[in-house]
Amino acid sequence: MYVTRRGFLKLSGLTIATFASGLGLDPAVAKAQGYALKIEGCTKIPSICHFCSGGCSLLLHIKDGKLIHLEGDPDSAVNEGTLCSKASSLEQVAYSKDRPKTPLYRAPGSDKWESITWEDAIERIAKKTKEIRDKTWVSTETVTNAKTGEKSTVTVNRAEGIAVLGSAEIDNEESYLLTKFARLIGTPYHEHQARI
Ligand code: SF4
Repeated sequence: MYVTRRGFLKLSGLTIATFASGLGLDPAVAKAQGYALKIEGCTKIPSICHFCSGGCSLLLHIKDGKLIHLEGDPDSAVNEGTLCSKASSLEQVAYSKDRPKTPLYRAPGSDKWESITWEDAIERIAKKTKEIRDKTWVSTETVTNAKTGEKSTVTVNRAEGIAVLGSAEIDNEESYLLTKFARLIGTPYHEHQARI
């Protein structure tokens, strides 16, 4: 009998399945066992998908500092355990050789990015924020009384060169802190990315 390569694979699969059911092996149980073995000894860490504003919840299974498995969080009211294909491929993002691991800085006029430390990045951001705040600070404004046409000077104290933008992926406490920061720094421009 002539058997093609595809025919051979089909035949062997059938033989193994028949053999397995003959021995009382349930493929569904074997599959579940494989899942259990894969995540055995892992620490389960709840997280949030960063790809879009949906903010779906993830469960990350970590062993020895390495991501072994990830799945949707069944307790999440947003995604109820499901994940779209982008989130399902997050493991590849985590270990991609193209993923930047440090902040990158491009000096004025330069055509290349350099790695800098987080301390350097925070220092630069703080200095720039202060510089822009000082440069664009408005302490008073002249207003006109709509009825009398009389002009007067009022205190406004605002940093017009800075805007704060929130994210759908930050939680209530982070939003609270961001709002506090916007008030503290004196910007009237406080917006949010999510429109849900
Ligand atoms: S899992 Fe998909 S839908 Fe949910 S936040 Fe991530 S990218 Fe958006």
